[in-house]
Amino acid sequence: MNKNIKLSNGETIPMVGFGVFQTESGIVTENAVVTALKAGYGHIDTAKIYANEESVGRGIKKSGVAREDIYLTTKLWNDDIRAGNAREALKASFSKLDVDYLDLYLIHWPAVGFEEAWLVLEEYYKAGKIKTIGVSNFHKHHLDELKRVATIMPMVNQIESNPYFNNFELVKYCQSLGIVVEAWSPLGGTGSHIFENPTLIELGKKYGKDVAQIIIRWHLQNNIVALVKSVNDDRIKSNINVYDFELSKEDMDIINSLERNQRSGADPETFDF
Ligand code: NDP
Repeated sequence: MNKNIKLSNGETIPMVGFGVFQTESGIVTENAVVTALKAGYGHIDTAKIYANEESVGRGIKKSGVAREDIYLTTKLWNDDIRAGNAREALKASFSKLDVDYLDLYLIHWPAVGFEEAWLVLEEYYKAGKIKTIGVSNFHKHHLDELKRVATIMPMVNQIESNPYFNNFELVKYCQSLGIVVEAWSPLGGTGSHIFENPTLIELGKKYGKDVAQIIIRWHLQNNIVALVKSVNDDRIKSNINVYDFELSKEDMDIINSLERNQRSGADPETFDF
């Protein structure tokens, strides 16, 4: 299996990304980023609202991994979208991460004003300062609304997806348009109890893998980028060890059937932040 997925503009993204939502800024984030990059992730996903961009930037430098070998994502927060502050927010993210280009910049949620913000992202993309532009938590109608103003459509949509909330209708819609889907909370986030699922535990035994590896592999075989978070060194390393086995079609179907419409995060139709 290819470890990267190609975007509509020819760029490629490593299929397993390292997420740092709810990872404490400072040494915790720095160390996690260093461990992840040394373990071979080559892909970090942060956001202004995670309040750890500076630590991510320091972790990248400490890791010794070359900037061009890292696919780095950050996101425009809702308050900045509503206030029309995209340019200022971008400037701050570049400065905190201490980088002169971003691989991916996302509109974090479809907050009021996202169309105007998108035009700023297009400007930066055309100037080569952001290699890929995309959205997050966009439903079909948000994409349709964006289409009315966009001259470039998003190359990525980062949405919730995991075996308890696979979001397949939206996944398939995006994929049909050539938009690469990235899964947030790919392991069900915190509190889903997915690791106790007996079916996933059985599949783990069958393939000689743990539940997280089974789930991550399921995402990859669905052509979905998995953004996995951990602050534990062993789990950071094991979560990317997913390239030495393949789930059968029957087992993919079994995991698909675990769907229970159980979100771990907010609904893009009703979010209030
Ligand atoms: P995940 O689905 O990645 O789950 C993270 C949880 O699983 C943590 O509690 C972690 O604990 C635990 N965990 C990780 N690996 C293992 C393992 N091998 N075995 C057992 N437990 C494990 O959830 P997140 O919600 O953090 O989402 C991942 C990323 O997605 C975020 O970091 C962020 O980058 C992105 N995201 C984007 C959103 C958006 O709106 N665009 C919203 C939410 C997330 P521990 O750290 O102790 O290992």
